[in-house]
Amino acid sequence: MTTAVIIVAAGRGSRVGGPVPKQWQPLGGQPVLAHTLAAFAGMMRVLVIHPDDRARAEALDTDVLLVDGGATRDASVRAALEALVGKGVTQVLIHDGARPFPSAALIARLRAALANAPGAAPALAVTDALWRGDNGLVAGTQDRQGLHRAQTPQGFRFDAILAAHRAHPGGAADDVEVARAAGLDVTIVEGDETNLKLTFPGDFARAEAILRGRQMDVRLGNGYDVHAFTEGDHVWLCGVKIPHHKGLLGHSDADVGMHALTDAIYGALAEGDIGRHFPPSDPQWKGAASHIFLSHAAGLMAARGYRLANCDVTLVCERPKIGPHAIAMQTELARIMAVDVGLVSVKATTSERLGFTGREEGIAAIATAALVRT
Ligand code: MG
Repeated sequence: MTTAVIIVAAGRGSRVGGPVPKQWQPLGGQPVLAHTLAAFAGMMRVLVIHPDDRARAEALDTDVLLVDGGATRDASVRAALEALVGKGVTQVLIHDGARPFPSAALIARLRAALANAPGAAPALAVTDALWRGDNGLVAGTQDRQGLHRAQTPQGFRFDAILAAHRAHPGGAADDVEVARAAGLDVTIVEGDETNLKLTFPGDFARAEAILRGRQMDVRLGNGYDVHAFTEGDHVWLCGVKIPHHKGLLGHSDADVGMHALTDAIYGALAEGDIGRHFPPSDPQWKGAASHIFLSHAAGLMAARGYRLANCDVTLVCERPKIGPHAIAMQTELARIMAVDVGLVSVKATTSERLGFTGREEGIAAIATAALVRT
């Protein structure tokens, strides 16, 4: 089962005002579409753009297939569907670029419904009373029973929606209309009030408020690791090779600081520890460079919609002296995680000659990582 998402962003119309179309306007310091694309991280993504926006789109995200849209929404979706032919896609979600906040829970509900239906789409039941108006006066009431406000993403079996679009004469309001015209049943799943479509200037203020609320979504993780000294002439600590009269014993390169930090990130994501993702019983990780573990954890963090707010690693040892290498360690950890070096702290302490670290039998490390939702 391969699911692709088509994000429709070729429109030029701008009821929100401003010098560029609404999907390219800034929201929380990034274009609206950066948020929309991030909501579908890890899936095969197609972004349908106006040809004039190609340079902007190429600067946005490299892991996205760009397709030039047509003159109408139908034509844009059709172009994206045709671009996916032959790529093994079995399901497709079709989403408005100007809806930056489809939640992971909403996407999961949609995909679950799609397992048992040719089409599924989110909607919210209308709860306000409905009036007809005429020149500023209430001219009548409208029964709201059975009425829904439609949202996207709208999901379909790929072959079915491709055939439906090929057969449709054009002019549909959305892909559910195209699907229904072809006789496909579309299941309604529960929508989400935060899955708003940016249409009017006031919608941006609401979206900024939603973003501020998300920034309160902070996750913390800790990591602790110990490696024993053995024969050797160097140790690897936080990605830096330091000459020493001993080495560290371990299945991998025994980089105790990097292991603690990696576990802190896994911990913040409730994703277990290094041993779960890289079992020591698997010979392929013997002698492995520990940056493999840390970059995997950083990738998982991004895929789950989080970024590093900061991290702090403390190495506990009498020797070697860490201070002269701390900046190099911070630089290397930041490089591996692809974050600003200012987010990464490495420091050291001794244990006053007490315990196994004091007797120089090994090195311990503790790490804390804070993650915030992107
Ligand atoms: Mg370890």
